[in-house]
Amino acid sequence: MVPRLQSLKVRLLACSILTTLLATGIGYGVFRLVEKLQVVEFETLRERLIAFFFLFILLSTILNLCILPVVLNPVKRITQRLRSFIEGGSIEKINPADFPEMRGLVEATIEFVNSVEREKSVASMLRQVSRKRAMMAEKDAMTGLYNKSYLWTMVNGELSRSKVLGDSLSLVMLDIDNFKHYNDTNGHPAGDQVLIEIANILRENTRDLDLCARFGGEEFMVVLPKTPLRIAEEIAERIRTMVQSASFPHQDKQPLGTLTASFGVASFPDHATIADELVRKTDVALYAAKRAGKNRVCVYAKSFEQELSSTTEPGNTSPES
Ligand code: GH3
Ligand code: MG
Ligand code: MG
Repeated sequence: MVPRLQSLKVRLLACSILTTLLATGIGYGVFRLVEKLQVVEFETLRERLIAFFFLFILLSTILNLCILPVVLNPVKRITQRLRSFIEGGSIEKINPADFPEMRGLVEATIEFVNSVEREKSVASMLRQVSRKRAMMAEKDAMTGLYNKSYLWTMVNGELSRSKVLGDSLSLVMLDIDNFKHYNDTNGHPAGDQVLIEIANILRENTRDLDLCARFGGEEFMVVLPKTPLRIAEEIAERIRTMVQSASFPHQDKQPLGTLTASFGVASFPDHATIADELVRKTDVALYAAKRAGKNRVCVYAKSFEQELSSTTEPGNTSPES
Protein backbone atom coordinates (compact mmCIF):
# COMPACT_ATOMS: atom_id res chain seq x y z
CA MET A 1 0.00 0.00 0.00
CA VAL A 2 1.36 3.45 -0.93
CA PRO A 3 1.61 5.59 2.23
CA ARG A 4 -0.24 8.91 2.04
CA LEU A 5 2.40 11.58 2.41
CA GLN A 6 0.43 14.13 4.36
CA SER A 7 3.45 15.61 6.15
CA LEU A 8 4.55 18.82 4.47
CA LYS A 9 8.14 18.12 5.56
CA VAL A 10 8.16 14.66 3.94
CA ARG A 11 6.48 15.98 0.81
CA LEU A 12 8.97 18.83 0.58
CA LEU A 13 11.96 16.54 1.11
CA ALA A 14 10.69 13.93 -1.35
CA CYS A 15 9.93 16.57 -3.95
CA SER A 16 13.29 18.32 -3.63
CA ILE A 17 15.18 15.00 -3.91
CA LEU A 18 13.08 14.12 -6.94
CA THR A 19 13.52 17.51 -8.64
CA THR A 20 17.29 17.52 -7.90
CA LEU A 21 17.70 14.04 -9.38
CA LEU A 22 15.55 14.90 -12.41
CA ALA A 23 17.27 18.27 -12.95
CA THR A 24 20.70 16.61 -12.72
CA GLY A 25 19.72 13.74 -15.00
CA ILE A 26 17.91 15.83 -17.61
CA GLY A 27 20.57 18.59 -17.35
CA TYR A 28 23.36 16.11 -17.92
CA GLY A 29 21.55 14.54 -20.87
CA VAL A 30 20.83 17.93 -22.48
CA PHE A 31 24.40 19.07 -21.81
CA ARG A 32 25.87 15.95 -23.48
CA LEU A 33 23.55 16.35 -26.44
CA VAL A 34 24.51 20.01 -26.90
CA GLU A 35 28.19 19.00 -26.77
CA LYS A 36 27.71 16.12 -29.14
CA LEU A 37 25.83 18.19 -31.69
CA GLN A 38 28.44 20.89 -31.18
CA VAL A 39 25.74 23.56 -30.78
CA VAL A 40 28.01 25.38 -28.34
CA GLU A 41 31.72 24.69 -27.93
CA PHE A 42 33.22 24.90 -24.42
CA GLU A 43 36.96 25.69 -24.14
CA THR A 44 37.58 24.96 -20.47
CA LEU A 45 36.16 22.86 -17.64
CA ARG A 46 35.16 26.08 -15.85
CA GLU A 47 32.98 27.10 -18.79
CA ARG A 48 31.40 23.63 -18.84
CA LEU A 49 30.67 23.79 -15.10
CA ILE A 50 29.13 27.28 -15.31
CA ALA A 51 26.94 26.25 -18.26
CA PHE A 52 25.84 23.04 -16.50
CA PHE A 53 25.14 25.00 -13.29
CA PHE A 54 22.80 27.45 -15.10
CA LEU A 55 21.08 24.59 -16.94
CA PHE A 56 20.59 22.80 -13.61
CA ILE A 57 19.13 25.93 -11.94
CA LEU A 58 16.74 26.47 -14.86
CA LEU A 59 15.55 22.88 -14.90
CA SER A 60 15.15 22.58 -11.12
CA THR A 61 13.16 25.87 -11.04
CA ILE A 62 10.78 24.58 -13.75
CA LEU A 63 10.44 21.19 -12.03
CA ASN A 64 9.86 22.77 -8.62
CA LEU A 65 7.14 25.01 -10.05
CA CYS A 66 5.47 21.94 -11.59
CA ILE A 67 5.65 19.97 -8.35
CA LEU A 68 4.63 22.81 -5.99
CA PRO A 69 0.86 22.01 -6.10
CA VAL A 70 1.64 18.50 -4.82
CA VAL A 71 3.46 19.97 -1.80
CA LEU A 72 0.67 22.43 -1.07
CA ASN A 73 -2.15 19.96 -1.62
CA PRO A 74 -2.95 19.45 2.12
CA VAL A 75 -3.30 23.24 2.61
CA LYS A 76 -5.56 23.38 -0.45
CA ARG A 77 -7.74 20.56 0.89
CA ILE A 78 -8.25 22.28 4.27
CA THR A 79 -9.05 25.57 2.53
CA GLN A 80 -11.63 23.86 0.30
CA ARG A 81 -13.37 22.19 3.25
CA LEU A 82 -13.48 25.43 5.21
CA ARG A 83 -14.88 27.29 2.20
CA SER A 84 -17.59 24.67 1.61
CA PHE A 85 -18.62 25.10 5.27
CA ILE A 86 -18.77 28.90 4.96
CA GLU A 87 -20.96 28.48 1.85
CA GLY A 88 -23.50 26.57 3.92
CA GLY A 89 -22.34 22.95 3.61
CA SER A 90 -21.35 20.82 6.56
CA ILE A 91 -17.67 20.50 7.29
CA GLU A 92 -16.22 17.10 6.37
CA LYS A 93 -14.32 15.27 9.03
CA ILE A 94 -10.76 16.61 9.21
CA ASN A 95 -8.38 14.51 11.21
CA PRO A 96 -5.62 16.76 12.63
CA ALA A 97 -3.26 13.74 12.62
CA ASP A 98 -3.42 13.77 8.80
CA PHE A 99 -1.72 17.18 8.74
CA PRO A 100 1.24 17.01 11.19
CA GLU A 101 2.79 20.44 10.58
CA MET A 102 -0.61 22.13 10.45
CA ARG A 103 -2.06 20.31 13.44
CA GLY A 104 -2.40 23.58 15.41
CA LEU A 105 -4.03 25.36 12.48
CA VAL A 106 -6.39 22.44 11.79
CA GLU A 107 -7.38 22.11 15.45
CA ALA A 108 -8.00 25.86 15.75
CA THR A 109 -10.06 25.75 12.53
CA ILE A 110 -12.18 22.83 13.79
CA GLU A 111 -12.72 24.60 17.10
CA PHE A 112 -13.72 27.78 15.26
CA VAL A 113 -16.11 25.89 12.98
CA ASN A 114 -17.71 24.08 15.93
CA SER A 115 -18.17 27.31 17.86
CA VAL A 116 -19.74 28.97 14.79
CA GLU A 117 -22.09 25.97 14.40
CA ARG A 118 -22.98 26.13 18.10
CA GLU A 119 -23.70 29.86 17.82
CA LYS A 120 -25.75 29.28 14.70
CA SER A 121 -27.95 26.67 16.38
CA VAL A 122 -28.36 28.78 19.54
CA ALA A 123 -29.31 31.81 17.41
CA SER A 124 -31.85 29.82 15.40
CA MET A 125 -33.30 28.38 18.63
CA LEU A 126 -33.66 31.89 20.08
CA ARG A 127 -35.29 33.09 16.87
CA GLN A 128 -37.81 30.22 17.01
CA VAL A 129 -38.61 30.90 20.67
CA SER A 130 -39.14 34.63 20.14
CA ARG A 131 -41.28 33.98 17.02
CA LYS A 132 -43.39 31.53 19.02
CA ARG A 133 -43.70 34.00 21.90
CA ALA A 134 -44.81 36.78 19.57
CA MET A 135 -47.38 34.42 18.02
CA MET A 136 -48.65 33.33 21.43
CA ALA A 137 -49.03 36.95 22.49
CA GLU A 138 -51.24 37.63 19.47
CA LYS A 139 -53.05 34.39 18.72
CA ASP A 140 -55.59 32.14 20.33
CA ALA A 141 -53.99 28.70 20.58
CA MET A 142 -57.08 26.66 19.75
CA THR A 143 -58.49 28.50 16.74
CA GLY A 144 -55.38 30.29 15.45
CA LEU A 145 -57.40 33.53 15.32
CA TYR A 146 -56.16 36.69 17.04
CA ASN A 147 -56.84 36.87 20.77
CA LYS A 148 -58.84 39.46 22.64
CA SER A 149 -55.96 41.65 23.83
CA TYR A 150 -54.48 41.86 20.33
CA LEU A 151 -57.94 42.61 18.97
CA TRP A 152 -58.23 45.66 21.24
CA THR A 153 -54.90 46.97 19.99
CA MET A 154 -56.05 46.48 16.42
CA VAL A 155 -59.47 48.08 16.94
CA ASN A 156 -57.81 51.14 18.48
CA GLY A 157 -55.26 51.31 15.67
CA GLU A 158 -57.83 50.79 12.90
CA LEU A 159 -60.15 53.40 14.40
CA SER A 160 -57.37 56.02 14.53
CA ARG A 161 -56.43 55.18 10.96
CA SER A 162 -60.06 55.40 9.79
CA LYS A 163 -60.44 58.83 11.44
CA VAL A 164 -57.35 60.18 9.72
CA LEU A 165 -58.27 58.75 6.31
CA GLY A 166 -62.01 59.44 6.62
CA ASP A 167 -62.82 55.71 6.18
CA SER A 168 -65.61 53.77 7.81
CA LEU A 169 -64.90 50.86 10.16
CA SER A 170 -67.33 48.13 11.16
CA LEU A 171 -67.33 45.47 13.82
CA VAL A 172 -69.22 42.18 13.72
CA MET A 173 -69.52 40.17 16.92
CA LEU A 174 -70.94 36.67 16.96
CA ASP A 175 -71.82 34.21 19.66
CA ILE A 176 -72.68 30.55 19.11
CA ASP A 177 -76.26 29.82 20.08
CA ASN A 178 -76.93 27.33 22.87
CA PHE A 179 -73.31 26.28 22.99
CA LYS A 180 -73.58 25.13 26.57
CA HIS A 181 -76.23 22.69 25.39
CA TYR A 182 -73.91 21.47 22.63
CA ASN A 183 -71.10 20.88 25.14
CA ASP A 184 -73.38 19.22 27.65
CA THR A 185 -74.87 16.94 24.99
CA ASN A 186 -71.77 16.07 22.96
CA GLY A 187 -68.84 16.74 25.26
CA HIS A 188 -66.26 19.50 25.46
CA PRO A 189 -63.91 18.08 22.77
CA ALA A 190 -66.78 18.12 20.25
CA GLY A 191 -67.45 21.73 21.30
CA ASP A 192 -63.79 22.57 20.67
CA GLN A 193 -64.09 21.20 17.13
CA VAL A 194 -67.08 23.50 16.53
CA LEU A 195 -65.02 26.51 17.67
CA ILE A 196 -62.23 25.53 15.25
CA GLU A 197 -64.71 25.08 12.40
CA ILE A 198 -66.37 28.46 13.10
CA ALA A 199 -62.89 30.06 13.03
CA ASN A 200 -62.32 28.47 9.59
CA ILE A 201 -65.65 29.82 8.34
CA LEU A 202 -64.64 33.32 9.50
CA ARG A 203 -61.24 33.09 7.82
CA GLU A 204 -62.74 31.82 4.57
CA ASN A 205 -65.45 34.47 4.41
CA THR A 206 -63.43 37.60 5.12
CA ARG A 207 -60.82 39.60 3.22
CA ASP A 208 -57.10 39.60 3.99
CA LEU A 209 -57.33 43.06 5.50
CA ASP A 210 -60.14 42.03 7.86
CA LEU A 211 -59.22 40.80 11.29
CA CYS A 212 -60.85 37.77 12.89
CA ALA A 213 -60.45 37.23 16.61
CA ARG A 214 -61.73 34.95 19.33
CA PHE A 215 -63.31 37.41 21.70
CA GLY A 216 -64.15 35.01 24.51
CA GLY A 217 -65.23 31.38 25.06
CA GLU A 218 -67.66 31.01 22.14
CA GLU A 219 -67.68 34.61 21.00
CA PHE A 220 -65.85 35.93 17.97
CA MET A 221 -65.23 39.36 16.51
CA VAL A 222 -64.53 40.43 12.93
CA VAL A 223 -62.98 43.87 12.36
CA LEU A 224 -63.83 45.21 8.92
CA PRO A 225 -61.70 48.21 7.91
CA LYS A 226 -62.98 50.48 5.11
CA THR A 227 -66.42 48.87 5.44
CA PRO A 228 -69.66 50.87 5.86
CA LEU A 229 -72.51 49.61 8.00
CA ARG A 230 -74.64 48.32 5.10
CA ILE A 231 -71.82 46.12 3.75
CA ALA A 232 -70.90 44.92 7.26
CA GLU A 233 -74.48 43.80 7.77
CA GLU A 234 -74.34 41.85 4.48
CA ILE A 235 -71.08 40.21 5.52
CA ALA A 236 -72.53 39.25 8.91
CA GLU A 237 -75.60 37.80 7.20
CA ARG A 238 -73.37 35.81 4.82
CA ILE A 239 -71.38 34.36 7.72
CA ARG A 240 -74.58 33.56 9.62
CA THR A 241 -75.86 31.60 6.60
CA MET A 242 -72.53 29.79 6.30
CA VAL A 243 -72.65 28.74 9.97
CA GLN A 244 -76.26 27.62 9.67
CA SER A 245 -75.61 25.57 6.53
CA ALA A 246 -72.29 24.06 7.66
CA SER A 247 -72.60 20.48 8.84
CA PHE A 248 -71.46 20.11 12.43
CA PRO A 249 -71.66 16.68 14.07
CA HIS A 250 -74.78 16.18 16.25
CA GLN A 251 -76.18 19.57 15.21
CA ASP A 252 -79.70 18.11 14.95
CA LYS A 253 -79.73 17.77 18.75
CA GLN A 254 -79.51 21.59 19.17
CA PRO A 255 -82.64 23.44 20.43
CA LEU A 256 -82.97 25.27 17.07
CA GLY A 257 -82.59 21.98 15.13
CA THR A 258 -79.13 22.96 13.87
CA LEU A 259 -76.02 24.78 15.08
CA THR A 260 -76.36 28.54 14.65
CA ALA A 261 -74.87 31.83 15.83
CA SER A 262 -76.21 35.30 16.59
CA PHE A 263 -74.59 38.47 15.31
CA GLY A 264 -74.27 42.11 16.36
CA VAL A 265 -73.01 44.86 14.06
CA ALA A 266 -71.91 48.44 14.79
CA SER A 267 -69.91 50.95 12.77
CA PHE A 268 -67.74 54.02 12.91
CA PRO A 269 -68.78 56.80 12.36
CA ASP A 270 -72.49 55.82 12.59
CA HIS A 271 -72.52 54.52 16.18
CA ALA A 272 -69.35 55.48 18.01
CA THR A 273 -66.09 57.35 17.65
CA ILE A 274 -64.06 55.61 20.35
CA ALA A 275 -63.05 51.95 20.42
CA ASP A 276 -64.61 51.02 23.80
CA GLU A 277 -67.93 52.48 22.79
CA LEU A 278 -67.88 50.82 19.37
CA VAL A 279 -67.15 47.39 20.86
CA ARG A 280 -69.78 47.87 23.58
CA LYS A 281 -72.44 48.81 21.03
CA THR A 282 -71.58 45.78 18.89
CA ASP A 283 -72.09 43.66 21.99
CA VAL A 284 -75.41 45.38 22.71
CA ALA A 285 -76.54 44.58 19.16
CA LEU A 286 -75.50 40.94 19.63
CA TYR A 287 -77.44 40.78 22.86
CA ALA A 288 -80.50 42.14 21.02
CA ALA A 289 -80.11 39.36 18.43
CA LYS A 290 -80.13 36.80 21.25
CA ARG A 291 -83.22 38.30 22.81
CA ALA A 292 -85.00 38.43 19.48
CA GLY A 293 -84.73 34.65 19.17
CA LYS A 294 -81.07 33.93 18.14
CA ASN A 295 -79.71 32.90 14.71
CA ARG A 296 -80.01 36.43 13.34
CA VAL A 297 -78.04 39.63 12.65
CA CYS A 298 -78.88 42.82 14.54
CA VAL A 299 -77.46 46.23 13.71
CA TYR A 300 -77.04 48.48 16.75
CA ALA A 301 -80.01 50.74 17.53
CA LYS A 302 -80.43 53.18 20.38
CA SER A 303 -83.68 51.48 21.39
CA PHE A 304 -81.67 48.39 22.39
CA GLU A 305 -80.22 50.36 25.30
CA GLN A 306 -83.64 50.92 26.90
CA GLU A 307 -84.61 47.28 26.34
CA LEU A 308 -81.31 46.31 27.89
CA SER A 309 -81.70 48.37 31.03
CA SER A 310 -84.98 46.57 31.75
CA THR A 311 -83.27 43.15 31.41
CA THR A 312 -79.79 41.78 32.05
CA GLU A 313 -76.53 43.50 30.95
CA PRO A 314 -74.65 42.16 27.88
CA GLY A 315 -71.27 40.41 28.32
CA ASN A 316 -68.19 42.18 29.63
CA THR A 317 -66.38 43.71 26.67
CA SER A 318 -63.43 45.29 28.47
CA PRO A 319 -59.97 44.51 27.06
CA GLU A 320 -58.79 42.98 30.35
CA SER A 321 -61.56 40.36 30.61
P1 GH3 B 1 -76.52 31.55 24.14
O1 GH3 B 1 -77.27 31.00 22.97
O2 GH3 B 1 -77.34 32.49 24.93
O3 GH3 B 1 -75.22 32.15 23.74
O4 GH3 B 1 -76.24 30.32 25.09
P2 GH3 B 1 -74.90 29.56 25.27
O5 GH3 B 1 -75.19 28.24 25.85
O6 GH3 B 1 -74.14 29.54 23.99
O7 GH3 B 1 -74.10 30.50 26.25
P3 GH3 B 1 -73.59 30.27 27.70
O8 GH3 B 1 -72.88 31.54 28.06
O9 GH3 B 1 -74.67 29.79 28.60
O10 GH3 B 1 -72.51 29.10 27.54
C1 GH3 B 1 -71.34 29.27 26.86
C2 GH3 B 1 -70.69 27.93 26.80
O11 GH3 B 1 -69.49 28.02 26.03
C3 GH3 B 1 -70.31 27.42 28.15
C4 GH3 B 1 -68.90 26.99 28.02
O12 GH3 B 1 -68.68 25.69 28.48
C5 GH3 B 1 -68.64 27.01 26.53
N1 GH3 B 1 -67.27 27.30 26.21
C6 GH3 B 1 -66.58 28.42 26.45
N2 GH3 B 1 -65.28 28.28 26.02
C7 GH3 B 1 -65.20 27.03 25.50
C8 GH3 B 1 -64.14 26.28 24.92
O13 GH3 B 1 -63.00 26.74 24.76
N3 GH3 B 1 -64.41 25.02 24.48
C9 GH3 B 1 -65.64 24.49 24.62
N4 GH3 B 1 -65.85 23.25 24.16
N5 GH3 B 1 -66.64 25.16 25.19
C10 GH3 B 1 -66.44 26.41 25.62
MG1 MG C 1 -71.34 33.79 25.09
MG1 MG D 1 -73.45 31.36 23.16
